[in-house]
Amino acid sequence: MKPPAIAIDGPAASGKSTVAKLVAKKLGYTFINTGAMYRAIAWYLAQQGVAPAQHEKIAEMLPNMPLDFGKEGAVSTVLCAGKRLGRELTEPVVNDSVSLVAAIPEVRAFLLHKQREYNESEAVVMEGRDIGTAVFPDTPFKYYVTASEEVRAARRAAQGLTDSIRERDKNDRERACSPLTRAADARVIDTSDMTVEQVVAEIVNDIKDKTQVQS
Ligand code: C5P
Repeated sequence: MKPPAIAIDGPAASGKSTVAKLVAKKLGYTFINTGAMYRAIAWYLAQQGVAPAQHEKIAEMLPNMPLDFGKEGAVSTVLCAGKRLGRELTEPVVNDSVSLVAAIPEVRAFLLHKQREYNESEAVVMEGRDIGTAVFPDTPFKYYVTASEEVRAARRAAQGLTDSIRERDKNDRERACSPLTRAADARVIDTSDMTVEQVVAEIVNDIKDKTQVQS
């Protein structure tokens, strides 16, 4: 039987990364940050001076990019030429270009395959924009984590990051290929007035309830 996949989607700065990491820890599953995968491609293209509008060139470059998507312990990692990427992934140039790069169908197809690979041999908590709709449409464990625009902007500012989340969300919602949208069967959690612990508990309890029903 395939190991379980927990899908956590939502707009920028909704708190889904923090929550997904803690859910993974509680369950002993691997945490996969798919935003970092899109960010790595956007960062690499910026390094090479390739604009997000150069679709054909980007599609050609994809198989030869020196990027590796692995994991360290129970957390996904992104490496470029063997070096782990960290702060590079939240550089302003990446924040500004990532949603345009993520709209390119070839980029999505390339990463979809890598994302599914993680779940071939292990249980995962994967967070992103299209996990419940495109990556694992058959999983019974889907969560759409959101918060009001004010709360999300305040959370980003508190992290000290400049990030035009409104524009990114707009691009993510309006793209033709796997847009950000709530899966019809996802449980929606508005975290505006919730603590991280409350959100984690709601998800973990729901997974436990569903697992008991299934077995
Ligand atoms: O989650 P994070 O904010 O780091 O994601 C950065 C960007 O990567 C998103 O704004 C979106 O354009 C893209 N993304 C995506 N699909 C995912 C995860 C991220 O399109 N599953």
